[in-house]
Amino acid sequence: MRPDDAVILVTGGSRGIGAACARALADDGWAVALTYRTSPDGAAQTVRDIEASGGRATAIELDVTDAGGIAGAVEAAGTTLGGPVLGLVNNAGVRADDLAVSIDDDAWDVVLDTNLTGAFRLTRQALRGMVRARFGRVVNVASVVGPRANAGQANYAAAKSGLIGFTRTAATEVARRGVTINAVAPGFINTDMTAGILQNGAIDAIPARRAGEPEEVAACVRFLASDGAGYVTGTTLFVDGGLSA
Ligand code: NAP
Repeated sequence: MRPDDAVILVTGGSRGIGAACARALADDGWAVALTYRTSPDGAAQTVRDIEASGGRATAIELDVTDAGGIAGAVEAAGTTLGGPVLGLVNNAGVRADDLAVSIDDDAWDVVLDTNLTGAFRLTRQALRGMVRARFGRVVNVASVVGPRANAGQANYAAAKSGLIGFTRTAATEVARRGVTINAVAPGFINTDMTAGILQNGAIDAIPARRAGEPEEVAACVRFLASDGAGYVTGTTLFVDGGLSA
């Protein structure tokens, strides 16, 4: 069972899916530390939203590609909110689209460093306390892109496929300690990341005939982080209106 004072760290909680996850997890009783990189105002607004609903939250500046900042962010989450960090949502992500033949090294590196290596480093850091506590929940925000092709996103697909593979294997390493590691794989969700690309027939390809909302991804993350999901680990939950069916 999750202790009453448990803290969950949500990367990229300043807007979009991360902000929705932070609100949903606070509604479920977690104290939430949400990180931001370029959007302090968005992060502060998410904290205010949570506090207005009776929850507890704090905002922490973190660039997930900064290896040196990871340990401090996890520690700050626990000390600021006064509890053990027993949850982690690796949500921070970017895309830098191009055809594989044209992706330059910078566009490759930033996408892999943010979406995959950052999630690995945070998980490695947070797992130590979770294993000691014999309780933990890690949810990685992957994508339908990776398991499913999407021309123009080879770097993003490599990162998100890698994240799903990491999720599966790491989950088996800590399952006996009461720690679960799962992924969600959103399809097209209405956020800044998809602004301008949900046109030209993109919606027609989705069986549900609409984009998803951040709250619909957050509901799945909330479940995977809950006590009720204690026997669910190493899996990927697709939240895509049937796109990958
Ligand atoms: P978004 O609205 O563009 O938000 C991206 C978030 O990531 C922001 O909070 C941003 O923080 C943070 N971030 C970006 N780079 C960072 C870094 N280096 N260090 C720390 N934080 C960083 O995107 P979103 O649509 O909500 O996406 C959230 C996650 O869902 C991503 O992993 C994305 O790949 C995944 N996803 C999205 C969709 C979709 O259709 N939207 C589909 C599948 C998967 P700041 O604002 O503070 O810079």
